[in-house]
Amino acid sequence: MAPTSRMLIEIPSDWPLVGCIAFGIIDRGTNILQVRPSSTCPLSCIFCSTDAGPRSRSRQAEYLVDLDHLLKWFKQLVKLKSSRSIEAHIDTVGDPLTYPRIIDLVHRLSEIPEVKVISMQTHGFLLSYSLINDMEAAGLSRVNLSIDSLDPDLAKRLSGTNQYEVKHITAMAEAIADSKVDLMITPVWVPGYNDAEIPKIIEYALSIKAGKLWPPLGIQKYCPHKRGRKPRGAKPASWLSFYRKLQELEHRYHVRLALRPEDFGVVKDSRIPVVFKKGEKVRVRVVGYGWLKGEKIAVPVRGDPAIITLVNASRVELEAKLPARILACKDGIYVAEPLW
Ligand code: SF4
Repeated sequence: MAPTSRMLIEIPSDWPLVGCIAFGIIDRGTNILQVRPSSTCPLSCIFCSTDAGPRSRSRQAEYLVDLDHLLKWFKQLVKLKSSRSIEAHIDTVGDPLTYPRIIDLVHRLSEIPEVKVISMQTHGFLLSYSLINDMEAAGLSRVNLSIDSLDPDLAKRLSGTNQYEVKHITAMAEAIADSKVDLMITPVWVPGYNDAEIPKIIEYALSIKAGKLWPPLGIQKYCPHKRGRKPRGAKPASWLSFYRKLQELEHRYHVRLALRPEDFGVVKDSRIPVVFKKGEKVRVRVVGYGWLKGEKIAVPVRGDPAIITLVNASRVELEAKLPARILACKDGIYVAEPLW
């Protein structure tokens, strides 16, 4: 499959930074705020739920958010929270290490008094020793590092990337484990692909002393998504059988694998008010391209501070004003379709 080219959109400073899954900030009503400064990824994992990376077939645009713009919105959202212990979790629909100002982002987040934890989710392809040093100095608390196989050939295959060398990733894992930054290894368990690797990854995580403050492992269940990539023959486990297998492994290795919100100090908190209801009709102005083919980005004409992703909108022109119906509004992420 040949890599596809797509446009890079630098988010204008007048776009709200809430409402879109692909960039900005997501608030799911806890003391964690998800921070999404960029959307690109250097890998093309064969199980990727967001169809990221050079081999993506469904994406048409990638995004980059200006650092000051992002921090302005982040600080406004922190003010809405009653918790004085906020976790800034940098987890994009790609890999956050593609953000050119990732160190500045960590540093500036660490200067916000309410932010007590800064964590990042990555597959680690872009990590280097100097980047780890810089992230440690900037105040990063934890890296959630996905290592899906320790076998070099399988790891390459799962990453969908010939240049992927798991040796490099394990060297980086060990450097993180030796630093002040905590390490949690977070493999995606893809049934039929890396079943035999999961015990080895657990042994590896324990051997390098991952998990100083938080659990050493966060095994992720493979869940196929409508627009994500689905590896041939991978049958998703039910949640019941997934947790049963985790329990067996917990007994074998004496390590907690079925994680709970309390393991991360997650508490419920106030959330950004959801400004629309499912089914509601709203007049929008189209301001840009959505991340997936056929989508556009819009803002409400009545001025609510929210981004709306318009689906089935290939024929809708930029700057058009039109009515749309809200199809989904979970966690303040708005999806609508044009009505005309
Ligand atoms: S799973 Fe993560 S690292 Fe792999 S392609 Fe998707 S976003 Fe990139």
